[in-house]
Amino acid sequence: MAAINSPAVLWRRARPGDAGWPASEAWAALSRSVNGNLIKVDSLFAPCVSEPTGAACKDVAQNMRNPFYIGDQPGGTQVSGWLNAWMPEPSVYAIKAQNAADVVAGVTFARENKLRLVVKGAGHSYQGTSNAPDSLLIWTRAMNQVTLHERFVPTGCEGKIAPVSAVTSGAGAVWIDLYHAVTTVAGHYVQGGGCADVGVAGLIQSGGFGSFSKGFGSAASNLLEAEIVTADGLVRVVNAHTNPDLFWAIKGGGGGSWGIVTKITLRTYALPEYFGAAWGTIKAGSDAAFQRLIEHFVDFYTDKLFNPNWGEQVALAPDNTLKISMVCQGLDGQQAKRIWQPFFDWVKASSKDFSIVDGLGAGESKARHWWEVEGNHSMIPDKREGAPKYHGWWTGDQDQVGVFLHGYDSLWLPSSLLESENRQQFVHALFQSSRHKELQLHFNKGLAGAMPEMIKNARDTATNPAVCDAFALVIIADGEKPAYPGLSGTSVDVDEAAKDASQIDLAAQALYKIVPNAGSYVSESNYFNPDWQQAFWGKNYSRLQTVKKKYDPDGLFFVHHGVGSEEWSADGFTRISRS
Ligand SMILES: Cc1cc2nc3c(=O)[nH]c(=O)nc-3n(C[C@H](O)[C@H](O)[C@H](O)COP(=O)(O)OP(=O)(O)OC[C@H]3O[C@@H](n4cnc5c(N)ncnc54)[C@H](O)[C@@H]3O)c2cc1C
Repeated sequence: MAAINSPAVLWRRARPGDAGWPASEAWAALSRSVNGNLIKVDSLFAPCVSEPTGAACKDVAQNMRNPFYIGDQPGGTQVSGWLNAWMPEPSVYAIKAQNAADVVAGVTFARENKLRLVVKGAGHSYQGTSNAPDSLLIWTRAMNQVTLHERFVPTGCEGKIAPVSAVTSGAGAVWIDLYHAVTTVAGHYVQGGGCADVGVAGLIQSGGFGSFSKGFGSAASNLLEAEIVTADGLVRVVNAHTNPDLFWAIKGGGGGSWGIVTKITLRTYALPEYFGAAWGTIKAGSDAAFQRLIEHFVDFYTDKLFNPNWGEQVALAPDNTLKISMVCQGLDGQQAKRIWQPFFDWVKASSKDFSIVDGLGAGESKARHWWEVEGNHSMIPDKREGAPKYHGWWTGDQDQVGVFLHGYDSLWLPSSLLESENRQQFVHALFQSSRHKELQLHFNKGLAGAMPEMIKNARDTATNPAVCDAFALVIIADGEKPAYPGLSGTSVDVDEAAKDASQIDLAAQALYKIVPNAGSYVSESNYFNPDWQQAFWGKNYSRLQTVKKKYDPDGLFFVHHGVGSEEWSADGFTRISRS
């Protein structure tokens, strides 16, 4: 007898060994059609399983903390798994696409053969959505050409939209490729991600925030045009006038749900002369002093930093420390110092309550040099032979490379919490939450306080409109050293990891008490969020569903908690409903 409530099975995608799985001749034909760029995929540490002392194993072991190396492997994922959520599992085959025609061949093959299709750029999905077993991967890494335009007009928009300066990039580029070309070489600004090695197409479809998003908006809101291969195998140009519904959906509607983006064009801006920073760590001597410190910082933030200039983060930890890692644009070092001095003086005046663990300071650097890797002590160069000299990653991102996650949650904090009548309650919730786990307040990932034009542009994206009313995204997350399958010496203490995950939940719960229906940033969020449609997209979800039905009615593009994924089994192989 069928189990009560078991979901209906409408149809299944083919797995290796199934009658429907393509014969070797069909794979060979596909390989020919993509000029031999069809490759077998192994897991990252497969060489260490087959030949633990071989050169290939040594290579991966030496490079596993290098995000560019991981991004260069077809089986690489930048996160080595998430407790009880997912573990990296390679596709059977990958097309290392060189152009849109290769992508079309892969999409058509997957659709006709009812295969599980996966798309990967640089592999930074926390949710594990760029890898899946028994699938065909389309890997965009090789499509990384970057071209600058002085006067760009989207296709079909001649006479309707004034030309603007812009940059076009292949979908496989990472942000440092654009920062190098746009800022270091050409002296302009493009809004991308904070993490230099994140993929451009994945981030834009997330919404995408960088350190200076309060000044320049989300990355998605700066998209002028994209080229995308949809489930029907067509190469479509999307912009404000051509396929505007799909254009809107890919601006924050989540990666891997709409088609395969092959190219993007983003607006560029005049570069501010300086970027600046403020830093330091303060430890309070008691819980009461820590509450005073949080309160004073929230007051200071509201009065002096809640504006287009300031982004990045502060962290509040259970050991009663406040860590400042803030950056600014449009201010010189003297201005930055003047802004922070009263706060620093207040801390120093209470030396019996507060100790300074890492020196407090503020300063500037020439914006043009911000992303230059050579001579930059905050960046780690990719030293592999043949790697571009401008490839490097922030020292502050090193711990994230290959991390195995215990848990993760994020909430957008509405700016109403900063209003004087709510501030007390907010400070109390921050303190309570920090009893369980470190909280990171990412001010650049909420757009309240941003340039009004940038807020307006963000409202015209699929991202949850809550982002426009939020002054920060709070992220509560933790994990441990890489635990890739096949990596010797790794064993996750599952009980300890589960305890850690429950601390993260408790910390998040303390904040959900004051923001019960908080939105959450799709790409930096809780894998287990039961209310994901509302949290990631709010009132935009039903419009996104309409676009999904129009361009991908058969659900070729499936990702965990992506638009339309509720019609599929958790692994994306079985269609269980059709609305
Ligand atoms: C260490 C780390 C740092 C991060 N820092 C930031 C940050 O500073 N700011 C921020 O906003 N976010 C950040 N993120 C989140 C990141 O923006 C998203 O995870 C983004 O989707 C990653 O894109 P990717 O190409 O690197 O990853 P992938 O794992 O390759 O792709 C992510 C998702 O997008 C899909 N996708 C990728 N390329 C395409 C394409 N061409 N067409 C269609 N779908 C595609 C994939 O299928 C997958 O579902 C960070 C994530 C990590 C792990």
